[in-house]
Amino acid sequence: MSDLDALYRELILDHSKNPQHFGLADDAPHSGTSHQKNPVCGDEITLRATVDGEHITAVTWEGRGCSISQASASMLADLVVEEGLDRAAAKELIDGFREALRSRGTIELDEDTFGDAAALSGVSKFSARVKCAMLAWVALEDALAKA
Ligand code: ZN
Repeated sequence: MSDLDALYRELILDHSKNPQHFGLADDAPHSGTSHQKNPVCGDEITLRATVDGEHITAVTWEGRGCSISQASASMLADLVVEEGLDRAAAKELIDGFREALRSRGTIELDEDTFGDAAALSGVSKFSARVKCAMLAWVALEDALAKA
């Protein structure tokens, strides 16, 4: 295992043990909620996005399942909220993440854009785990469509 792989593994464990933005915020007039399941692995995510016009003001979530699915939700919520993304930027982020995860290891997630979630790059080589990593991102896409 390379140093980078070790670092990435550590980040995934960290986020799954100390999930960020965990615990659903109250349902507000400008929020959308999405519940997503990955029956193959037994992962579940409920994610709520709150918006103020185009600006995303909060992303909170609850879930259970494997460490990849839970870490991915934590990394995503962290990224969107810390960067203060708007809807368009979030869509671009989700599209880029999906493209990389479906690339079978040919596209790397860069840390400048994806923050801690860049640690999930390696997942794209394991097609069975791609859905685990995608779950929260699909939930955000759906929640934003409803918000
Ligand atoms: Zn999983």
